[in-house]
Amino acid sequence: MSFALLAAGIVLNAFVGGSTAAPDPIPTATASVTPTPPLSEATPTAAATPTPTSGARASYCTVADRLTPYRAFDDYARTFLDWTDALPSTYEPPDLVPVSMAGFSGEGRGNVVRAILIDDLKALRAAAGAAGHQLAVLSAYRSYGTQQSTFAYWVSVGGYERALRSSARAGHSEHQLGTAIDFSSGGTSKPWENDDWATTPPGKWLIQNAWRYGFVLSYPDGTENVTCYEYEPWHYRWIGRDKALAVRQSGLSLREYLAR
Ligand SMILES: [Zn+2]
Repeated sequence: MSFALLAAGIVLNAFVGGSTAAPDPIPTATASVTPTPPLSEATPTAAATPTPTSGARASYCTVADRLTPYRAFDDYARTFLDWTDALPSTYEPPDLVPVSMAGFSGEGRGNVVRAILIDDLKALRAAAGAAGHQLAVLSAYRSYGTQQSTFAYWVSVGGYERALRSSARAGHSEHQLGTAIDFSSGGTSKPWENDDWATTPPGKWLIQNAWRYGFVLSYPDGTENVTCYEYEPWHYRWIGRDKALAVRQSGLSLREYLAR
């Protein structure tokens, strides 16, 4: 497929809300690589945010393809993915359902998640709404094939090295688990159009409350050395309430916590 066709397909998907070819972030007609966010001065409550790391980059932030050890569907809460560890191309959760079951709009192919998190997602949406925040789901499950086209798109936009930091190579995305969601404030705004979406009212509410519903921020600010990826204040992964609380209390990023 030519780049033009690929890009057109991705843009079309974005417009129809399918987001099937969505990277992190989703490309649009005016897509540009997300700039490196400035260091945030608005640090949320300490327990909710892992301590920024310094020092050497983790060994698993090396480009390679190794099957991640915990990859059964029931292992969803302990599967770790990074630049090295990946899911097999055949991994597709058997219980994908539309996010509309949790009250969100969007019936596109990319707007499905595992049924096991619907109750928590519904509760999160209701709580956010009660606090005055209308959250939207920008992107959820992504197949291996979608990740292939997505990563290729970002390479075409900003080059391979740049793409690695904000987009996962095929098999390496948490979105393939069916438990990762990119949230937004709804409407036409995209979270990466903010310097730091976590400082906006809905983004801040999520930072402070998502754990109560089993969701953790996978790529916190200042943790690129241990998560491999740039800060993504819109990308959350559901691991269940008990484990989300444990991760929060650990003060670690999810990737570090799962390596323990
Ligand atoms: Zn994401």
